[in-house]
Amino acid sequence: MAKKVEQYDVVIIGGGPAGLTAAIYCGRARLKTLLLEKSLIGGLATYTDEIENFPGFPEGATGHELMDLFYKQAKNFGVKFKFTDVKKVNFQQEIKIVETFRTNYEAKVVIVASGGKPRLTGAKNEDLFLYDKGISFCATCDAAANTGKTVMVIGSGDAAIEEGIFLTKFAKEVIVSVMHDPGKMDCNEIAKAEALKNPKMSFIWNTMVDSFEGDGRLSQVVLKNTKTNELIPVDVDTCFLFIGYIPNTEIFSDILNMTSAGYLITNEKMETNIPGVFAAGDVRDSFLKQVATAVGDGAIAGYGAEKYIAESEVYENQILNDGKPSLVYLWNAVDPNSRELLPTIEAFEAKWGQKVQVTKVDVYKSKGIAHRLGIDTFPTVALINENKIIEKISNSITPEKLKSLIQAI
Ligand SMILES: Cc1cc2nc3c(=O)[nH]c(=O)nc-3n(C[C@H](O)[C@H](O)[C@H](O)COP(=O)(O)OP(=O)(O)OC[C@H]3O[C@@H](n4cnc5c(N)ncnc54)[C@H](O)[C@@H]3O)c2cc1C
Repeated sequence: MAKKVEQYDVVIIGGGPAGLTAAIYCGRARLKTLLLEKSLIGGLATYTDEIENFPGFPEGATGHELMDLFYKQAKNFGVKFKFTDVKKVNFQQEIKIVETFRTNYEAKVVIVASGGKPRLTGAKNEDLFLYDKGISFCATCDAAANTGKTVMVIGSGDAAIEEGIFLTKFAKEVIVSVMHDPGKMDCNEIAKAEALKNPKMSFIWNTMVDSFEGDGRLSQVVLKNTKTNELIPVDVDTCFLFIGYIPNTEIFSDILNMTSAGYLITNEKMETNIPGVFAAGDVRDSFLKQVATAVGDGAIAGYGAEKYIAESEVYENQILNDGKPSLVYLWNAVDPNSRELLPTIEAFEAKWGQKVQVTKVDVYKSKGIAHRLGIDTFPTVALINENKIIEKISNSITPEKLKSLIQAI
C-alpha cells in the first residue's frame, strides 16, 4: 500500500523539552509545524518526580507538570502532534522527507530533538527499579533527595567520579563500584586524586552489578567480583548509573555528522551539516544535558527554522526569480561603507527596477542568502540571470559600474 504524504513547513522529531520548545517557537512564528513523538510527550524529563532547577518554579515541579505546560503552550500555537516512531529520513533534496510506518512527511525544515537513553548495566531486575524507583542517571537531579543517605555510583569515568564527588555534598556515603583493579579508574587524574582522598567516598574494586534487589523500591545492589565471582550485597538508598548515554541517532548515521559516541555535531545556531536540518537538546554533542539547556537549544533551532524558511523564500521567489534578471546587494548594517552605498543602490533600483529585480540583503541579519550565493565579502553586488551569478562587484561599487551591469544582461 502506498504511503500517505503530508506537507509541513517544519517537522520536529522528538517531544522532549527541546522538541517542545522548538515547536512553541515555530508555532508562534505561524509555521505549519508537526511534532512526532514515539512514546511520551515530555521525554526523559517526565521520568523524574522533582525538577528543582528549572527557572521560574521556586517550589519545583514534577517532570509531568512541567512538560504538560510546554505541551499546552505548543498546542495553543497550533502545532500538530502525532504519536509515531520516525523510521527513516531522507535529507538529500531541498524538501526533506521524514518517514513513519504509514506516512511520509515532507518538510522545508527538520529539527532533530530525539534525545538519548541512559546506558544500562544489563544486570538482573534492573528494569524493576529504573528512574524514580531507585536507579537514577542524574546526580544534578536527584542529589538533594539523597541528603544523609547511602548511595552507590556505578562507573569510573569522568561523569561517574565527578558526579560521585558532587553527591558527597548531600549523601552520607558514596560507594563506587569500579570494574578495574584497585586504584585504576577511567576518569581524569585530578578527579581521581580528589575522589580517593574524599572521606565520604569508598570503592569496591573489580566489581560489576549482578542484580538489583528491593520490594517495590531499590534497597540493595548485589555486586560480583569479576576475579573471584564472590557476590557482595550492598544496602543503598539510590544507585546512580554513569556508564554512558546512548543518543537516539541510529536513523541519522551516514546522513548527519556525529561524534564517535553518536552525538550530533552542530554549530551554535543548532545547524547540522545539512542546510535546513537542525538538532537540539540531549541528542547534540554538548557540555550540559538538562531541561534548561534543551530549552535554549530548542529556542535557537525554532528561531533558526523560521529564518531558514524566510531566506529560502526570498532566495527562490525574489533572487532566482525566473524570467527577470536579479541584482542582489549584500550589505552589512553595522558597516558604515555598506550603509553609505544604500542610496546608490536605491537610485539604481528607481531607474532600472522595471528591468532588474533588486533585492537588498542585510547579511548581519541573514547570512544564509550570502552563503547560498557563495559570497563572503561585503558589500557585494551580484547580478543573477537564469539561476547563475553572471557578474559580481565587491570593490568600489559606483553608479557607473552598476550601469555597466545592465549592458551585461
Ligand atoms: C531520571 C532523570 C531525571 C532528570 N532530572 C532532571 C532535573 O531535575 N533537571 C533537569 O534540568 N534535567 C533533568 N534530567 C535531564 C533532562 O530530562 C534531559 O536533559 C532533557 O529531557 C533532554 O531533553 P531533550 O528534549 O533533548 O531529549 P529527551 O527528553 O530525551 O526527549 C527526546 C524525545 O524524542 C523521542 N524520540 C526519540 N527517537 C524518536 C523517533 N525516532 N521518533 C519519534 N520520537 C523519538 C523520545 O521518545 C523522547 O520523548 C533528568 C533526566 C533523567 C533521566
